[in-house]
Amino acid sequence: MWKSAVSGKYKFFFWLLIRDRLNTRNILCRKNKYLEDYTCVLCQQGVEETLGHLFFACHFNLQCWQILGIQWDTSLAETEMILQARQHFGSQIFREIAILAPWCIWTHRNSIILDGGILSLDRWKFSFKSEFSLIKK
Ligand SMILES: [Zn+2]
Repeated sequence: MWKSAVSGKYKFFFWLLIRDRLNTRNILCRKNKYLEDYTCVLCQQGVEETLGHLFFACHFNLQCWQILGIQWDTSLAETEMILQARQHFGSQIFREIAILAPWCIWTHRNSIILDGGILSLDRWKFSFKSEFSLIKK
């Protein structure tokens, strides 16, 4: 994943993601940070916002991955899950997509929580296309 054409900030984000170091609501709860709500804002199903939920199990992100044609077998260990998804995807651009899609999920989630943004798959798609267009090919 580190050979990806995306810039350093995205790689650093992805490094935080795979190490479960992003400040999800679950992490903030574990750090004893008080929030009024620890649930996921992307599906609004009352599910605690864990890393696994936010990027791999949430209804919203499942739609994102479906649009991109990537399927994750969350029953596998992390590395195997990534390798299997890459193999099934079958394109060199997998790394860039697999890094940028969660970045856009994260920034979309942040815009809702921090800026009162509206939950919108179209907004996520627009964001993804914009970020993807910036990749140096
Ligand atoms: Zn959710």
